[in-house]
Amino acid sequence: MKKKQFKTESKKLLDMMINSIYTNKEIFLRELISNASDAIDKLYFRSLTDSSVGLSRADYSIFLSVDREARTLTVSDNGCGMTGEEMESNLGTIAKSGSFDFKADGKGEGEVDIIGQFGVGFYSAFMVADKITVTSRPFGSETAYRWESEGVDGYVIGECEKETFGTEIVLYIKEDTEEEKYSEFLDEYRIRTLVKKYSDYIRYPIKMEVTRQRKIEGNEDYESYTEVETLNSMVPIW
Ligand code: ADP
Repeated sequence: MKKKQFKTESKKLLDMMINSIYTNKEIFLRELISNASDAIDKLYFRSLTDSSVGLSRADYSIFLSVDREARTLTVSDNGCGMTGEEMESNLGTIAKSGSFDFKADGKGEGEVDIIGQFGVGFYSAFMVADKITVTSRPFGSETAYRWESEGVDGYVIGECEKETFGTEIVLYIKEDTEEEKYSEFLDEYRIRTLVKKYSDYIRYPIKMEVTRQRKIEGNEDYESYTEVETLNSMVPIW
């Protein structure tokens, strides 16, 4: 598949994210969860006027999962999803909002402020991941697309299979370095803390499969088991 180039501004942003010395890298999770929540909102509002959607509020959730061996962190949602074209325009260019104007802001100090104040969305994930795949199927469509990028040198988009509607984002977490322990983003406990810190108020449940220990009945040994836990309290902050 032919590799496509990012638009110039996106390239600069990406480059900044990838080589970021920004200390608050953890905010990437807030950004992805916020996008997932917006995507669910879109489908939820549609369901209010379009009974053919056939989903109720309780059906929606955001799901996090970690594979330590593969070094992946996955964020999935059952929101509106994206068509191939939407992926191209939404993920191939930086957000339209104008909140990010490199030329005006210059370099240096601007960096921290921009990330802190506006949230830079999806691209912030490149602070912690050296490869990202986004697989998405719009609600009501049979066709899914996968977007894949290892950063500045571009991205590819192609048709693929996806069983359910919505979006699944897989982050291939960077290897640890002397300065940065990226593996922390593969740690269940750390992820739970980040969700509580930045995304507790999100209105849909943010779920994760967690591993726990329990005592085996009748003897002193422990065994591990997994269960799905909702990490956020869903209480609005305002
Ligand atoms: P912003 O959220 O500020 O618009 P982003 O770079 O974070 O910018 O995302 C760009 C766009 O990609 C979003 O506006 C949305 O249209 C789309 N998008 C991102 N994540 C998702 C998702 N999980 N489901 C559906 N669309 C998404």
